[in-house]
Amino acid sequence: MAIDNESFELLLATVQRFVNERLVPAEDAVEEHDEVPADIVDDMKEMGLFGLSIPEEYGGIGLSMSQECRVAYEIGQTSLAFRSVFGTNVGIGSQGILMDGTEAQKQEILPRVASGELIMSFALTEADAGSDSAAVKTRGELVKDGEGDHYILNGSKRFITNAPRAGAFTLMARTDGPGAGGISAFVVYADSKGLGLGKPDKKMGQRGTKTCDVILDNVRVPAANIIGGKPGQGFKTAMKVLDRGRLHISAVACGMAQRILNEAVAYARERKQFGKRIGDFQLVQAMLADSQAELYAGWSMVQDAALRYDAKGAPSVSDPYVSMLASCCKLFCTEMVGRVADRGVQVHGGSGYINEYPVERFYRDVRLLRLYEGTTQIQQLIIGRELMGRD
Ligand SMILES: Cc1cc2nc3c(=O)[nH]c(=O)nc-3n(C[C@H](O)[C@H](O)[C@H](O)COP(=O)(O)OP(=O)(O)OC[C@H]3O[C@@H](n4cnc5c(N)ncnc54)[C@H](O)[C@@H]3O)c2cc1C
Repeated sequence: MAIDNESFELLLATVQRFVNERLVPAEDAVEEHDEVPADIVDDMKEMGLFGLSIPEEYGGIGLSMSQECRVAYEIGQTSLAFRSVFGTNVGIGSQGILMDGTEAQKQEILPRVASGELIMSFALTEADAGSDSAAVKTRGELVKDGEGDHYILNGSKRFITNAPRAGAFTLMARTDGPGAGGISAFVVYADSKGLGLGKPDKKMGQRGTKTCDVILDNVRVPAANIIGGKPGQGFKTAMKVLDRGRLHISAVACGMAQRILNEAVAYARERKQFGKRIGDFQLVQAMLADSQAELYAGWSMVQDAALRYDAKGAPSVSDPYVSMLASCCKLFCTEMVGRVADRGVQVHGGSGYINEYPVERFYRDVRLLRLYEGTTQIQQLIIGRELMGRD
């Protein structure tokens, strides 16, 4: 799956313009009001951003992984809240259906996800199942009655991105015994009876993004809503979704590193101390140079890994080596952007600590990238396990 080069370059140029002319000027308002303005969300729908990764036959744009990463790099160059509005539709919320869903599920759901009419979230994490995501406790009990086979879901999901906006969830619940093999992935509609939301989480950064708990109290879901139709496959689906998500997040991290570096260079060219531009001091140049070199390394990794992902026949890739490369990207790029943000603040001096300058909020925003979709330590474990398992 990919679109031709000419159409892709046009799309990329449109996204770049949109970032520079619409999103960057709206950053302060998003920070202040903790909300992405509705007219911007409408523009995103019109541009097709909600359907970037969904094939054309289901109403999306149908980008390859490497094309999606290049778009994510551009979108990463502004407040991460903007990406979050459509990020779960493009990635973790919908990809399970595309990868493992039945044809009926794809046809019913994906066109609405691609248009932005239906917001989808990904609900795996629970209070006692974070990094140990196979420890999911939310239960799905099969009932067979006059209304056909159903599951009754009970439990609670934590920190679910876009949950307050979501119309449906890709939600993992235990339908069988312990361990990964007992987990099934369901499509659960937000208006299902018994489904409730917790209070919005108060976060360190990324204002304008929304997360909260999702509480399931005897929620009745048709058995036909199990992704792929077969129970027990949900954990595998979730892991495949996360591989893809990790490449996307890595590209976003590189985009954000590029923006922070641009801000730091601009400041270093303008700010004068000791009668010179601070950027003329080699100790300041060293900070900029380290950031540039690390950004180049990270972005090269992401592009390489995304091409390898595509070569494995995306969208449904289940390859341990590519999976390890996705973890390498997530590990390196999200840690890298943390260092770039730290240097960005340093180059700005005291002004970097004041919220008039975007680096202050980017410093807080990027902290999350090292935590969700698998912490840095979980990426290290995946890489280590793969290395030790091979001859
Ligand atoms: C803003 C935000 C948005 C999120 N969005 C979503 C979402 O949309 N959907 C979703 O399902 N989840 C989401 N999450 C959850 C996120 O994926 C988890 O927070 C993350 O996976 C870590 O789990 P935890 O918070 O329980 O930390 P823990 O698992 O308790 O980890 C705590 C620390 O212990 C370390 N650790 C744990 N186990 C090991 C080990 N075996 N070896 C070494 N170190 C270890 C971790 O690396 C970490 O440093 C979101 C979280 C946040 C904060």
